[in-house]
Amino acid sequence: MINLETPEYIKNLTSGINNLAKTVLRPISRKYDEEEHTYPKELDMFRGMQILGRPKKKKKEGEENKSGSEGKPKKGVNLSTVAIIEEMCWGDAGLLLSIPNAGLGNAAIAAVATDEQMERFGKMWAAMAITEPGAGSDSGSITTTAVLDGDEWVLNGEKIFVTCAERSDCVVVWATVDKKAGKAGIKSFVVEKGRPGFKLEHLEHKLGIRASDTGTFVLDNCRIPKDNILGSPEVKTGTEGFKGVMKTFDNTRPLVASMATGIARAAVDYTREKIEESGIKLDYSKNPNNVSSIEKEFYLMEAHLEAMRLLTWRAAWMADNELFNNTEASMSKAKAGRYATLITQKACELLGPIGYTRDELPEKWMRDSKIMDIFEGTGQIQHLIVARNVLEMSSKELK
Ligand SMILES: Cc1cc2nc3c(=O)[nH]c(=O)nc-3n(C[C@H](O)[C@H](O)[C@H](O)COP(=O)(O)OP(=O)(O)OC[C@H]3O[C@@H](n4cnc5c(N)ncnc54)[C@H](O)[C@@H]3O)c2cc1C
Repeated sequence: MINLETPEYIKNLTSGINNLAKTVLRPISRKYDEEEHTYPKELDMFRGMQILGRPKKKKKEGEENKSGSEGKPKKGVNLSTVAIIEEMCWGDAGLLLSIPNAGLGNAAIAAVATDEQMERFGKMWAAMAITEPGAGSDSGSITTTAVLDGDEWVLNGEKIFVTCAERSDCVVVWATVDKKAGKAGIKSFVVEKGRPGFKLEHLEHKLGIRASDTGTFVLDNCRIPKDNILGSPEVKTGTEGFKGVMKTFDNTRPLVASMATGIARAAVDYTREKIEESGIKLDYSKNPNNVSSIEKEFYLMEAHLEAMRLLTWRAAWMADNELFNNTEASMSKAKAGRYATLITQKACELLGPIGYTRDELPEKWMRDSKIMDIFEGTGQIQHLIVARNVLEMSSKELK
């Protein structure tokens, strides 16, 4: 039987994190929205805390997969991470993205690095650079090149909209080692800050998540050691290699979905408080046709929020139990990304003037939520992935 109750260990974990979100993030939320590009030094307290889960230990050859061996689901790092992220983003999503050593590049490194690479890069703050001026949603069409020259790779190209651009210690850069091979030629490389030819060009001024720094890098004959490549340098025929890189998204999309859920929950909680202060008593036993329009709209916000969380937790739980979750990861991102924007907008609508003033946070949540439907693949791209999987069609057949 499916049990939809929150597990006890998650409840214990999230109550502590919620306290941090309330006492550390909320009080500085507006400050760093106003002071864009300033590093929130208050976040130094999170250094070394591994707040976003520990990289999974790789199984040794011949080692049995113990998960599910007794038919029991596994408690895992993905489910606890999405629960933690929701709490932190209830506090502030831009600040969550600014927590040291918790970049998307760190997830990519943890997923594929060798023990030796883990030793070198595991403690660094790693950003992730895929997007280029001519390649966003279609990440298979990137044009940044990597050419092996003796013991070094030489990288050339431009990467835009990189989160944690200034603050990170290194960047996981996607580049092609063989343009003719198409997607199969795409590999990821760790480029440490300070490497010759690696330059942060500028930072963006943004609508939301303004506490997070987003920037453009130019790679101009940038030289990195040969063993900074993540995974095998071999170009396999077909798209197997590229599928490997794309698998990172199956882990990171539920993380973005949980960010969206956290922001939306902040808006729902705030709206509930104001509705109750105005004297309306929320009564879930009433027939939906006998409630005021404000109550009805609010119950819908809550219902969508619940659906966002359940889809996200399912995708994360599947990852923990080593089940292929490509469809479910995209479903969670599509639903949560879209509905975070709708819920936060609805909150501003129901709240009237306090939903619009900069004295309060709802207008900020509305701005912060929009990115959740854009990065790590837009909502349209998530729908495309789900449709391809359901209809069993390839990316060539359904574009
Ligand atoms: C604040 C911020 C932070 C970011 N951080 C990072 C980061 O850390 N690393 C990184 O690599 N990138 C990052 N990005 C880039 C982000 O991932 C891309 O913006 C996103 O993937 C969309 O790509 P694009 O902007 O080129 O849009 P395009 O691909 O040009 O798409 C434009 C529109 O067309 C739609 N569309 C495109 N193709 C299709 C299709 N086949 N079917 C239907 N609709 C389609 C899209 O959904 C979108 O609505 C960030 C972006 C922002 C704004």
